[in-house]
Amino acid sequence: MKIHIKTYGCQMNERDSEALAGMLTEAGHTMVDAEEAADVLLFNTCSVREQAERKAKGKIGYMKKLKARHPDLIIGALGCMAQRLGNELLNELPHLDFVLGTGQLHTLAPLVESIRADRRQVVAITESAEVLTGMRTHHRHAEGGEPDFKAQIAITRGCNRFCSYCIVPYVRGREVSRSREDVVAEARELAADGAKELLLLGQNVAAYGWGGNVNPPPSGVSPFAELLEELDRIPELLRIRFTSPYPTYFNDRLIAAITGSRTVCHNIHLPLQSGSDRVLAAMNRQYTAAGYRAVVAALRAAMPDVTFSTDVIVGFPGETDEDFRLTRELMNEVDYDNSFIFKYSPRPGAKSASDADSVPQEVKEERNALLLEDLKTRVAAALRGQVGTVQEVLVEGTSPRNPERWSGRTGTNRLVHFLPVADQRPGTLRQVKITRAGGVSLFGELL
Ligand code: SAH
Ligand code: SF4
Repeated sequence: MKIHIKTYGCQMNERDSEALAGMLTEAGHTMVDAEEAADVLLFNTCSVREQAERKAKGKIGYMKKLKARHPDLIIGALGCMAQRLGNELLNELPHLDFVLGTGQLHTLAPLVESIRADRRQVVAITESAEVLTGMRTHHRHAEGGEPDFKAQIAITRGCNRFCSYCIVPYVRGREVSRSREDVVAEARELAADGAKELLLLGQNVAAYGWGGNVNPPPSGVSPFAELLEELDRIPELLRIRFTSPYPTYFNDRLIAAITGSRTVCHNIHLPLQSGSDRVLAAMNRQYTAAGYRAVVAALRAAMPDVTFSTDVIVGFPGETDEDFRLTRELMNEVDYDNSFIFKYSPRPGAKSASDADSVPQEVKEERNALLLEDLKTRVAAALRGQVGTVQEVLVEGTSPRNPERWSGRTGTNRLVHFLPVADQRPGTLRQVKITRAGGVSLFGELL
């Protein structure tokens, strides 16, 4: 059958969709880009904010027309919203054929077959440990004859942290780590298949191998560091990135593994959420602003060139002007290279949903805009500071906006555009002299 997957939400969902596409092609199906060409339409959904759910529901609702024209069309809702709503989703969108939750994704291929053979609606949302080992396939496409050199691996699933605003622990279940052998074997296969840059994924990747314990390991201990060191020895790999680590898991052992490695990039995503201790406590984040600053300082001391990105929520219940000012101050101090700023969205089932969503929408918008403005100014200044330096980039290919240029990324995750020379190839490291800074990216000359 011809199958189309549309993915909403985070990188873990992107990775899940890629694994599902891999499983489906192994089972003999063909993945297609156009919805109209598909016999099966799959929507891999997100629940993290209300907006994400509304978007997926709207899209699935719209597919009713397509189904009226093609009654054989199979439509499935997968992932986090499917997990959260289960049967309710079938009631709301009765033209759905199935609802497949996060714990049952590995059963997709046989489920699609059985629905084709015997048309009936199915809801499968029980948690299963098999999803941990059953999502190993990759659907990698060769573009212009070059293998795609970026690959993603999910090293943990689920989350045990229960930040008060967050639905993830409810829709993704308990935190479990894959075995080191399994992760390393997958990484080796990907490397043999042309992968040069590996992105390790988990809700709290740095808790990898720590048994789901919400107290970080003591000084000197970090199973995640051991994993990084083992992956660092795969010769074909040029770069390793990971997201998202919880700030309190950066102990001496992990920092030493990062600085001592050949491949781990000096760009750390360090979710802040808020710069106010009062709000952090209400969010059930297990650090203070001072604790967060200490992690940043330790990482900077070990890697003077490190860049940071972050996630911040504005308008958490009860967030005052002073709380917001503290967030803004801390953000400017850390000088992030990128930040994802979210307006608080109450999630039914998460703990903070029982508190009044007290910050008016206009105030959320205003705070959001202020942080974005700060970010823009600071990023432009940081980029100007790079002019004249020589940076190593991993060549990506032609620039999306201007096919006459090529682009690549620094280890610090800055995008650099350059004019092509005779011999650059995607997936190789090159030195670039930075000649000019734009608002969000750099320009340079290949050396
Ligand atoms: N596990 C990752 C985050 C997963 S959710 C981590 O802890 O870093 C991605 C981001 O969405 C979170 O970091 C948070 O900033 C945001 N988010 C989660 N729940 C939210 C909510 N209810 N409203 C607004 N933003 C939310
Ligand atoms: Fe959500 Fe917190 Fe877990 Fe991240 S660590 S997924 S924000 S509960």
